[in-house]
Amino acid sequence: MSKIYLLDVTNRDGVQTARLGLAKLEKTMINIYLNEIGVFQSEFGFPTTRHEINYLNANLELAEIGVIKPLRLGGWIRAIPGDVETTYHNIPKIKHLNLSISTSDQMINGKFQGRKTRKDIIKDMTDAVDAARAHDPESIGVNAEDASRTDINYLIEFGLAAKEHGAVRIRYCDTLGFDNPFSIYNNGRTLAEKIGIPIELHCHNDLGMAVATSIAGAMGVIDGGQDAYINTTINGIGERAGNADLIAVILALLKSKDTAKKYKLGGTLNLNTAWKICKFTSYAFDVPIPINQPGVGVNAFAHESGIHADGVLKDPENYELYNYEELGRGDPELVETGRAISTGEYGGISGFSHVMSKLPVPIKFPSREKANEILELVRFANVESQKPLVEDELVFIAKYPGIAKKLLTLTPLA
Ligand SMILES: [Zn+2]
Repeated sequence: MSKIYLLDVTNRDGVQTARLGLAKLEKTMINIYLNEIGVFQSEFGFPTTRHEINYLNANLELAEIGVIKPLRLGGWIRAIPGDVETTYHNIPKIKHLNLSISTSDQMINGKFQGRKTRKDIIKDMTDAVDAARAHDPESIGVNAEDASRTDINYLIEFGLAAKEHGAVRIRYCDTLGFDNPFSIYNNGRTLAEKIGIPIELHCHNDLGMAVATSIAGAMGVIDGGQDAYINTTINGIGERAGNADLIAVILALLKSKDTAKKYKLGGTLNLNTAWKICKFTSYAFDVPIPINQPGVGVNAFAHESGIHADGVLKDPENYELYNYEELGRGDPELVETGRAISTGEYGGISGFSHVMSKLPVPIKFPSREKANEILELVRFANVESQKPLVEDELVFIAKYPGIAKKLLTLTPLA
């Protein structure tokens, strides 16, 4: 039976969003948390972007030593041979790639202004897939940008060509959030049946339907006999109105009416890390979680009106579809209201040692030299993030100083 897998694009679509960005250490923590929650793949960045190089290589090293495992780390590039070559020059050990090109007449005409035809698009894409295959990656996905506004027969032709050249998945991009759940169900099913390889659903939220279209598209793909890969972002952060929210997608798959009977999630999900990953991502992006966000909003389990409060006190199932504990909520959170010592870009050894000794699992250093080495990395991490590092980031740096040093190193243009 075909299954649904999650491919999170926070570290690609999320960070390319206007006004928003993440430090490389924050991107790394997100990969670690995505691995913990059980997502299949993280689209972890842009291999042709120079300031990503050290971060991407350092994260592949984390995968190699088993810190990020079994999560797959995939890069996003344009479907042109030049980008493939730059990718392997910059990130020689990358194993998973998604190659992206526009497929709708609107974009072919609107972007290329008569310089490219539908045939040229397929040729560019297959040339890029061939170039990537020459480097023997474990998986190549091909992204059809603006697929929802693309003629379905052309999309099938495009997908078949990609498959023939060795792509293992086609990403159906509802780039503008144009689909409704019924239209994307039909397209997902048709593509699965006619192309015969797994289909990714990449849905945007311009009409407020990203989660619904992701689920419906995945149902279509499953009913068409193929595995479906839903693209998510944490807290729904992404271009314009955002993408399909990771936690809402998981909840909808597990909890909505009759869905889980037929449409199964692949892999093992640890939903009880949801609270942590959403809180961290909100902090890292400096974007508050909306009060009414499914699962992790402040009001997601709040009841005040008479009939509701009475009902939930008698039996929570009267007004709650799922329990807050499933999402890792419910533990008290301590907020320091007295003296506070923090460590950061201008911090010294005394404050730093104090902070490290107060961690839930205290860290003591074997020598002053070692402590100074970690402090220096913490300073640099703070220069990049411009906000106090969270406990997990401090622990990460203390545990993997060599890798932290690499991913904190930005090499400017020569
Ligand atoms: Zn997108």
